[in-house]
Amino acid sequence: MRTVDVVVIGAGPAGLSAASSIAEAGPTQVLVVDEGPAPGGRLRSQLYRRGSDWYIGAERAASLAQRARRAGVIIESGRQVWSLDPGFVLGLSGGESIRADYIVIATGAAEKTLGLPGWTIPGVLAVGAVQTMLNVNRVLPGERLAVVGIDPLSLSIVDELAAADIDVAGVFLPPPPGKFSAPEQPSAVFTRLGGLHRLAPNRLLGLAMKALTIPGMAEVVARIWPSTGIRMAGMPLHLRECVVGIDGDDDVRSIRTKRVNTNGEPVGRERVVPVDAVCLSGGLYPLQDLTRDCLLVDVPELGGQVPLHGPNLETDTAGMFVAGNITGIESAEVARAQGELVGTVIAEKIAGHEHQSEAVITARADVEEARAAAPLTFMPEIHAGRRRMHELWCDHLSQDVRA
Ligand SMILES: Cc1cc2nc3c(=O)[nH]c(=O)nc-3n(C[C@H](O)[C@H](O)[C@H](O)COP(=O)(O)OP(=O)(O)OC[C@H]3O[C@@H](n4cnc5c(N)ncnc54)[C@H](O)[C@@H]3O)c2cc1C
Repeated sequence: MRTVDVVVIGAGPAGLSAASSIAEAGPTQVLVVDEGPAPGGRLRSQLYRRGSDWYIGAERAASLAQRARRAGVIIESGRQVWSLDPGFVLGLSGGESIRADYIVIATGAAEKTLGLPGWTIPGVLAVGAVQTMLNVNRVLPGERLAVVGIDPLSLSIVDELAAADIDVAGVFLPPPPGKFSAPEQPSAVFTRLGGLHRLAPNRLLGLAMKALTIPGMAEVVARIWPSTGIRMAGMPLHLRECVVGIDGDDDVRSIRTKRVNTNGEPVGRERVVPVDAVCLSGGLYPLQDLTRDCLLVDVPELGGQVPLHGPNLETDTAGMFVAGNITGIESAEVARAQGELVGTVIAEKIAGHEHQSEAVITARADVEEARAAAPLTFMPEIHAGRRRMHELWCDHLSQDVRA
């Protein structure tokens, strides 16, 4: 069995930064394994506007990977981790086992499914797949496309689709959830839209979106928003109209939509909108399935179930750390800063430092700074989520002391 000092699972911004900062601190064998074809994680597919510039995730990914390799990190792509057993023994695709003294789990996030009638027809794609087709493979998903779901990813993809000259028929609400849960009120959708103001392609739209966060404003706008939708800065937003089905045989032919009333219920006659592709965006959740040996807690403000972790991203299993979207859904620069923090902490442990150094305190401050400057806020209550995690961690430590 191969043995290394540190294994990092996931070569996204979190994993690559963690690996670099450990390897740069001293002679440590650091191995990064990732199931993807090249390092970079979700960063490789990201492309969005920042003022008059574009943020090109692929370039950022390449420079993070270059830094890691220069520091002596071994990156193995195309390697999926199937299991993680006690004593940090990893089982990899192909049958190999690797043992490590420290482990960093930086497996990122996954998309929630948006199942609606017709969602299995070829041409219906998840938003992450559309991003990868456009920005990595340079393949157009269709000529006229409908986007279903209102969140940071669906709005950023509209900008990317427009840049690729694809006609966006509209951004629509998803159908109401199952019959056992209440439909989402349009005012809640507008409040969420307000939280995305930093994503707006121009300052005017950003200010208009920000105004939705003023108490009571979302309710007013939801009442007066025309059911025919509005085109804002080129984005055809149908925030009072939900998609109830997708039609087609071998290819997508059209979507069927209905107006929603102020309670969020579909009402009136169906409208048919011709499209040849559909992009579904149901939100993200932390990908924590390799962490079954540490405590998991449910914190909806972070995106769902996440490994319990402390301020240095340590889990309740000594030697096991987490970084990036597995700790809560945030943007790439926050993941990178978290990776830097974990790397700094592990490097000091390996060097035998007992006390928290100035470097760790600075790395923690950098995470906060990255959070404050993030262009996308996926979880509007992220700060409350982080506070909740801190309380849960303190409870856990005090139970340990009492036991
Ligand atoms: C579909 C999608 C679209 C996104 N779009 C944006 C966006 O436009 N802008 C933005 O700021 N953020 C976006 N995000 C959030 C994004 O996850 C963060 O920006 C950032 O990439 C998170 O970094 P990370 O290192 O935590 O995870 P990732 O970048 O997701 O990297 C995790 C890596 O772990 C690997 N991995 C997972 N499980 C295993 C396993 N079992 N074995 C081996 N390797 C494994 C994956 O292959 C992946 O390369 C998106 C997320 C998703 C899921």
